[in-house]
Amino acid sequence: MQITSGLPETFNPDLYDMIVVGAGFAGAVCARRLAETSGFRVAVLERRDHIAGNAYDRYDGNGILVHEYGPHIYHTFNERVHNFLSRFTEWTDYQHKVLANIHGTLMPVPFNHTSLKLAFGEQRGEQLYRKLVETFGEGRKVPIMELRAKNDPELVEVADYVYENVFLHYTMKQWGQTPDQIDPSVTGRVPIFIGDDDRYFPQAPYQGMPAEGYTALFERMLDHDLIDVFCGVDARDVFRIGETNVHVCGKCYGGEIVYTGPLDELFNLDLGALPYRTLDMKFETLDMDQFQPVGTVNYTTSEDYTRITEFKNMTGQVLPGKTTIMKEYSKAYTPDSGETPYYAILEPENRELYERYLERVQNLTNFHPVGRLAEYRYYDMDAVTNSALDLSDEIIACHA
Ligand code: FAD
Ligand code: UDP
Repeated sequence: MQITSGLPETFNPDLYDMIVVGAGFAGAVCARRLAETSGFRVAVLERRDHIAGNAYDRYDGNGILVHEYGPHIYHTFNERVHNFLSRFTEWTDYQHKVLANIHGTLMPVPFNHTSLKLAFGEQRGEQLYRKLVETFGEGRKVPIMELRAKNDPELVEVADYVYENVFLHYTMKQWGQTPDQIDPSVTGRVPIFIGDDDRYFPQAPYQGMPAEGYTALFERMLDHDLIDVFCGVDARDVFRIGETNVHVCGKCYGGEIVYTGPLDELFNLDLGALPYRTLDMKFETLDMDQFQPVGTVNYTTSEDYTRITEFKNMTGQVLPGKTTIMKEYSKAYTPDSGETPYYAILEPENRELYERYLERVQNLTNFHPVGRLAEYRYYDMDAVTNSALDLSDEIIACHA
């Protein structure tokens, strides 16, 4: 692999069998698979000055490994994804835990057996827990919106507490809307857990952190003789989208294109901008060993930020006397402002707009949108990897 900053004047797209736009999970997985399985020469164009997309991590000025674009915790049920990524990294056995700060008391999230007892007292908490077990069964995950639909008075009591103290204010901060107003799959990501497992991803068989970080994982994934990476290159500056073809650097391109950016940007937002939420992330380094007891504390009833992450608690890095934390402030995304489109907003009219853009790229020969942005989905890293593995299977099959 070669990582070049900028596109050399001698860049000739015809020397490559595939151009990949974006060096995040979606792009890097496709690049690696086509290079090693089909012997494709691949050019990866990445507009940032680094690889790894939103999973990028780096050492800050104090020597602490931080996640530049928010806390990333690897977790999956998908064995194929896990086997593929494990070729490029060892994993630590980090098990992510999150506490909600509810009026000053720290309670496990997902809300579980322990949280119930902290919220309602030992005895009443236990009674309510028994009711949940009777109704849903031990080990079950119950989305808050499903719990709210029950009309048993004890279940209503739990649902009202959790809705008000865990979901309502956090969701207002994160999305500018109440949990009833947003797609239920969003709050469904953090269901109530009927059990004692206090991990954020209860039951996920594979979870942890890449032992040397995400950027190192990507360096290995992209390290292949047939892959060239060009950072600091915005594909929009070298692409021209025609009716059925893409011109790259002024020439009609005949190879495959894997595109992992937002679809609306390809057309200068001419049908309207796809709405996103973005985040302001405020990093602070403190003169102390440890700031909080777990990786992330969610502020679900107070503060104007949603959560604080302490990186050393997740990476296991030992560095006495200093720790770096990060606060996340969510807001509406403004296109072409330099902000990052982090979260697609899952609403039917946004999906319809996305489908209209999708129809246009489906007319383009050998053009493949994939990933969290290009598919306009709320995907975790493992889901993106899975989607990229599926897409690469298809491209490989076409060239077999
Ligand atoms: P990205 O990582 O966004 O990569 C796309 C790349 O394409 C970017 O680097 C971008 O610069 C580049 N690009 C776009 N347009 C162009 C262009 N025109 N020209 C050149 N390059 C371009 N997932 C988990 O599994 N666990 C977590 O704990 C987790 N935490 C998260 C926390 C936050 C705050 C956020 C925002 C996301 C989190 N995710 C997490 C999700 C995870 O970040 C994504 O699933 C994953 O990074 C998506 O990979 P991707 O390749 O689709 O997109
Ligand atoms: N959520 C909440 N309170 C919490 C945790 C999550 O209200 O303590 C809701 C909120 O709407 C959030 C969604 O559940 O956006 C998904 O949470 P998750 O932690 O999966 O968000 P991410 O890590 O993707 O930002």
